[in-house]
Amino acid sequence: MANASENKIITLFSGFIMELNNAKSADEILDALLRIIRKVVSFKWITIIDENKSVVKEHPKDFEANVGRFNELIEWAFSNRTHSFYPVGDEIIGFLPMIKGDQVLGMILVGLEEEPKVEEIDAMRVFSFLSATVAENVRLLEEVVSKNRLIEETMNYLHSILDTFPEMVIVVSEEGEIVYMNRRFVEGENVEGLRERALEIASQVIEAKVRRVGEYESDGQFFSIVAEPLKYRNTYQSVTTIMNVTSTKELERLKEIDRMKTEFVANISHELRTPLAAIKAYAETVLDSLEMLDQSTLKDFMDTIHKQSIQLENLLNELLDFSRLEQKALKLEREEVNIIEVVEDAVEGLREKAENNGIRLYFSSSDDEVRAFVDPKRIRQVLTNLIDNGIRFSKRDSEDRYVKVEVKKEEDTVLIAVKDNGVGIPKDKFDRIFDKFYRVDQSLTYEVSGTGLGLTIAKEIVELHGGRIWVESEEGVGSTFYIELPLRGEGQRGNDRQAG
Ligand code: ADP
Repeated sequence: MANASENKIITLFSGFIMELNNAKSADEILDALLRIIRKVVSFKWITIIDENKSVVKEHPKDFEANVGRFNELIEWAFSNRTHSFYPVGDEIIGFLPMIKGDQVLGMILVGLEEEPKVEEIDAMRVFSFLSATVAENVRLLEEVVSKNRLIEETMNYLHSILDTFPEMVIVVSEEGEIVYMNRRFVEGENVEGLRERALEIASQVIEAKVRRVGEYESDGQFFSIVAEPLKYRNTYQSVTTIMNVTSTKELERLKEIDRMKTEFVANISHELRTPLAAIKAYAETVLDSLEMLDQSTLKDFMDTIHKQSIQLENLLNELLDFSRLEQKALKLEREEVNIIEVVEDAVEGLREKAENNGIRLYFSSSDDEVRAFVDPKRIRQVLTNLIDNGIRFSKRDSEDRYVKVEVKKEEDTVLIAVKDNGVGIPKDKFDRIFDKFYRVDQSLTYEVSGTGLGLTIAKEIVELHGGRIWVESEEGVGSTFYIELPLRGEGQRGNDRQAG
């Protein structure tokens, strides 16, 4: 049978366990400990210090134990890890180290009026031991919780930083899943095909474990995609950055146009000066030696002057057309014509020039007559330009040089092809050559003078007719320009802007 004082201890003990159970912090545990000790012994004061001898708790509230005066005794109790009681002045001071395993967590100091009884000492020992264990666990838990909170805060902080990026950022796992995306990506993700393209590049990076750069274009928007491999635990991921570079591209385009304009001014001066110089020289010769020249030489000279002035006129007409095109003032004068005749007319107009350059000019057609509602002068102009280009961009050193013009009637359209076996055009320039001022930057074609406006005007004229123009070409092999025109003259733009 337990005696009365043992019973009291057991009751206190179970109460204490309950309190420990409910305690949510180390501080609450120490409060419970103070309360329990008060019930076990009647002390004058009690102080709890941590392992660095800093006071954590004191009772009564406004009491100060001034623990410094017990420094040596505290040290001794710490190093011996035993509970001890010493008389100091008229008090008995108890030193109760709080120990968990081999760790000293702190110490309880009690000031008593008289020597405690053995069972009181035992009870205090048990409670302080229990408190130490629980307090340490709670402290560890608190540490984990606060570390978790810190990790969470750090993560949020990093995410906020990534969200401020003007670039879209995603992280792709080895399984091809997006494991992270910043806000910019979420907002821009609806661009058609962009996600697929980014994932494609990311998977290449994960496989090759090297950086990759790619591009994507959709709806007139340009994106640059940069993907870097990232080792994460035992796998590889890809950090993929996507940037909308549309405005940069636009700026580059404007700069390029500016550069081309400068080149154009230089070209045009040259283009004007050459025929002008010839006209001037021949006219001067004629004037200076009029009496000495026989009729046929005079005719040759006058022919040259005539040809050069036509050249000048053509150049000026091209400039005029271009300025009309820029002002959206290029108009068609449509009539119903046999388009075969119009094309043939253009071919014949250049026969002499082709022959003089050692180039054979062919013409063939599926039909003799194809009626079309077009502006014959403008269509002739387009054909003249294409055939002339075929002659000018022929291969200098080639023996067999030709330009072939073919007309084929299709259901509602007519297809005209101008094919040469000249220097050819790089694939990535197929669209660019129709841009204003654009000339392929290549030593071969650069020797050929020009303005870079011919195809721009040709395209505008074809499109005004509701038709299409495009090129197929291989460098060093030759080019074929195609024009497809609707026969009945429908075509939105053509009707809208038809001359009255
Ligand atoms: P230009 O002939 O005055 O330079 P165009 O607009 O007619 O201007 O042509 C633009 C560019 O396209 C040319 O400078 C040339 O580089 C290229 N090009 C056009 N036609 C041909 C062709 N038949 N063969 C090779 N390159 C061509």
